Amino acid sequence: MTLVRLQVCALPLLPLLPLFHRLNREHFDGVLVRSGQPRVSVRWSDGRMSRTAGFYRRGPAVQGGRGCEIVLSRPVLEVLPQEAMESTLCHEMIHAWVDLELRSREVHGPLFRQRMAVINASQNRFQVSVRHRFPVPTKPPRWWAVCPQCQRRSPYRRRLRNAACRICCDVHHGGRWHPSCLLRFEPFEQSSL
Ligand SMILES: [Zn+2]
Ligand SMILES: [Zn+2]
Repeated sequence: MTLVRLQVCALPLLPLLPLFHRLNREHFDGVLVRSGQPRVSVRWSDGRMSRTAGFYRRGPAVQGGRGCEIVLSRPVLEVLPQEAMESTLCHEMIHAWVDLELRSREVHGPLFRQRMAVINASQNRFQVSVRHRFPVPTKPPRWWAVCPQCQRRSPYRRRLRNAACRICCDVHHGGRWHPSCLLRFEPFEQSSL
């Protein structure tokens, strides 16, 4: 029997810093890096950030009150093509640039939009928009995927063969796919929420 590692367990996360450095060079004249260090920290969210693709923030809650950071949503972006990740990171970098370099408090104002237009016109790999959200399919799910280990339930549009619970694979099997974490699929309608 061949076991295939499937997406629920095995999605690779791309490192963000190389992309940050490239976008900084290509679209921000390098000003978001000083002495080799990014002026804003960049990280992936944990699995819970599911309503927005990314955000930029500076303030007392960040890095002991002195820092600023860009956070990209793992659950939103990992299922979308790479352009979505690139345009989201670029969007948040424009926020960082407006805040740190121009020292303006505007959010999606004229400074933001002007830079966005320049970036969009200069390449066609991705397009930045003022949205932070991506359209999420609104059809109701047809299945619940239930983990036999932790009993977590997640809605799915379709059944996946050999999909295992990512959390339990992480916790109990060092991040490797394991058959004891195979998800069981139950029809959505027949089960109570
Ligand atoms: Zn924004
Ligand atoms: Zn589990």
